[in-house]
Amino acid sequence: MEGDNISRGRRDERWQGIEPAPTRACRKRWTSHAAHERIPSPVRPASAPTRPRLSTEPHAVSSSKPSAEKLIVLDGSRGEGGGQILRTALTLSMLTGRPFRIAKIRANREKSGLRPQHLKAVEAAAMLCGADVAGAEIGSRDLVFRPGPIAPRDLTIDVGTAGSTSLILQTLHLPIALRAETAVRVVLAGGTFNPKAPPYPFLDQTWRGHLAHLGMPIALATPSAGFYPRGGGRLEAWIEPAQPRPWVRTTRGDLLRIRGTAGVANLRDDVAARLRARAIDRIRDQGWNADVAIETASWPSPGQGAAISLTAEHAGSTVATFVGIGERGKPAELVADEAVAELVAFLNVPDGAVDPHSADQILLPLALADGRSVYTVSEVTEHLRTNAETIRAFLDRAIIVEEAPVPGQPGRVIVE
Ligand code: AMP
Repeated sequence: MEGDNISRGRRDERWQGIEPAPTRACRKRWTSHAAHERIPSPVRPASAPTRPRLSTEPHAVSSSKPSAEKLIVLDGSRGEGGGQILRTALTLSMLTGRPFRIAKIRANREKSGLRPQHLKAVEAAAMLCGADVAGAEIGSRDLVFRPGPIAPRDLTIDVGTAGSTSLILQTLHLPIALRAETAVRVVLAGGTFNPKAPPYPFLDQTWRGHLAHLGMPIALATPSAGFYPRGGGRLEAWIEPAQPRPWVRTTRGDLLRIRGTAGVANLRDDVAARLRARAIDRIRDQGWNADVAIETASWPSPGQGAAISLTAEHAGSTVATFVGIGERGKPAELVADEAVAELVAFLNVPDGAVDPHSADQILLPLALADGRSVYTVSEVTEHLRTNAETIRAFLDRAIIVEEAPVPGQPGRVIVE
């Protein structure tokens, strides 16, 4: 099938690690060469009319050709300066049909440019919509993406490293959900417990919970955990066709309980027991006397690893999940302390209905919902500000992030 082959510099070279389901048609449209146009000025200024440009209408591109519209130009070093700018741009480019160019990709990260997981996100997005792409190479700091119409279909994506599977799923989720006519299955192999990315327990407990509130059902499973350096985790998602609903969530109810899982992969069970015991002690030490129930688990995985997730349940709120991830040479007690520190920082700010990680992630579906959304956050992060800026570059939608003059404080987000 012609569509199975993606060219990366050479024609007919198979696109490593991304397989469309063999039963479904799949088109290709690829050129992958170094970007050489001059880079124009940074991010287009935000506009602030009150309606989204696209919302839930069918794809803006009606021809089967990639879009020839004027490029949106993004500066990947702005704000947080990480991979989120690229991923949000991919999602919105697919949904709006608007091509974009991003320069200085991940300029604020230690290893800047495209890493394997980012490249895989670009390749998977390109495959989903038959995009023309330039600059899709490891280390590339400059990429041009011209989308075609989205053709949702089942996908299997192997990151090829321990890179985050969840970030790739989040990139593809909205284009698939908004355009699919039947449920779509996406299977990813790579990391499922990555620092600085949504770990699986967060995805399953918190992200999926938010999506359910927005009317976007998704089922998730992880038959194998993936830790650095071995990877080999597996994340499976069944995405239902759906349109996001707007959301008002400005208060957090009383704390009902804290639950969690302390788990290990191919390590002694007493590591899980230590994670659990330390977390319970630290939560009590910090003065939180709520019900705490933490189970222990042993996860199948090709490698070794340990993690603890702590989920706070508040009356009338979506749950908030915080995860500590082990590393070779890092004591279990420190892993538990890190998870508890994040949890307690959230509990100590009762004004924020939404946790700091969810805050930037739910902004994207809400910006695509038809209607006004308002939510309070326990902390306004640079990720939240940066995501708002990237979204404004694609959608004529007013997104207001209200925050105190001092960094790291609670705030309020309004999507008009
Ligand atoms: P970037 O650093 O630009 O690649 O973006 C990282 C993304 O991962 C952001 O959307 C963060 O909210 C999210 N993220 C980072 N750490 C966590 C965590 N511990 N739990 C949930 N999401 C996270």
